[in-house]
Amino acid sequence: MESYDVNRLRADFPALSRKVYNRQLVYLDNTATSQTPRQVVKSIEHSYYNTKANVHRGVHTLSQEMTALQEAARERVRGWVNAPSTDEVIFTRGTTEAINLVAASYGTFFKDGDEIIVSVMEHHANIVPWQLLQNRVNVKLRVIPMDDRGVLDLDAYRNLFNSHTAMVAVAHVSNVLGTVNPVAEMISEAHSHGVPVLVDGAQAVAHQRVDVKALDCDFYAFSSHKMYGPSGVGVLYGKRELLEKMPPYQGGGEMIGNVSFEHTTFAELPFKFEAGTPDFIDIAAFKSAIDYLQPIGMDAIAAHEHELLEYTTSRLLEIPGMRIFGTAPDKDAIISFLIGDAHHYDTGMLLDKLGIAVRTGHHCAEPLMHRLGIEGTVRASFGLYNTIEECDTFIAAVKRVAMMLA
Ligand code: PLP
Repeated sequence: MESYDVNRLRADFPALSRKVYNRQLVYLDNTATSQTPRQVVKSIEHSYYNTKANVHRGVHTLSQEMTALQEAARERVRGWVNAPSTDEVIFTRGTTEAINLVAASYGTFFKDGDEIIVSVMEHHANIVPWQLLQNRVNVKLRVIPMDDRGVLDLDAYRNLFNSHTAMVAVAHVSNVLGTVNPVAEMISEAHSHGVPVLVDGAQAVAHQRVDVKALDCDFYAFSSHKMYGPSGVGVLYGKRELLEKMPPYQGGGEMIGNVSFEHTTFAELPFKFEAGTPDFIDIAAFKSAIDYLQPIGMDAIAAHEHELLEYTTSRLLEIPGMRIFGTAPDKDAIISFLIGDAHHYDTGMLLDKLGIAVRTGHHCAEPLMHRLGIEGTVRASFGLYNTIEECDTFIAAVKRVAMMLA
């Protein structure tokens, strides 16, 4: 991988050169959020210093410039996931809000007895919004099981469909196991039953090429902060024919046509779902994050991260008592593990003292923890800027912690 110059990339991320407990930081918490390059922060600074004005319907220059920056970001996002139209790209606060939008809005079509298929490895963000509907309508979650490697049981999935199935909501990539789910195949199965599919793409967009048209998904949700962009911005892609018939999610400014006390009409897509002032500064900066990723290339990033995954996995397995959760053949660069019976929190805390940032706990996937029969894991997750040398530092630190906790 001569052409992948990781050190050149690292120079764009000032946070990577900081120290923690007087040691060089090794940042392996990219699944929770990624670090942000100077180019993105520059965009934020540029907007604040030059074009900060509320977007849309502003007659003055700053407002028009800020609006143009926001809408350029929408076009860049559209291209990034190959959505057919910018009308189908709705800005939200993140993946969580995007899924809540679909559950609250599309969920108004659900009737008592309807069923929503989710998988056992879902993040709470793709479980709880569907459960909240139960306050209004008696809907039930049906759960796709997995095998011990963390591979979904597609035969069981096929058997879950019946005349009550109203939606499939599934993660593209598990934030705990790293499993890349065969979402194209799952979408095609759901469509053969006339059932729409929402894909939670939070863990996919920064690590592989995503093409919503090729997948033929009905909804696709993701967050900017996990793809080297600013926090506070997410995206819901939705098929036009569904978005058009769905009612607004929130009411307020920006999302209306005309308002009177007797009757209100709503704006066209995508604004119908964007009530209130959007996070226009961060939306504009999100474009810079995509502009940053595009020339590096998602295939090159995926290959680099894969090398780190394979190397680190094989070396960690040399440690006595090492238990890795998630060994699917198609797996992204996420390693969830426990060392023997050592508590995940103790391991994480000791690693932090050695300058290594990993996440510990249930990772917002408690039902998955129940399936695995554990309370939590230590999770190391890799990004485009991690190096083999950092993997070595991490492996040596885990070995040391293993001895300390033995
Ligand atoms: N879905 C998955 C698979 C995730 O990993 C996460 C965050 O870790 C989310 C949803 C929620 O994303 P956000 O907190 O950005 O809304």
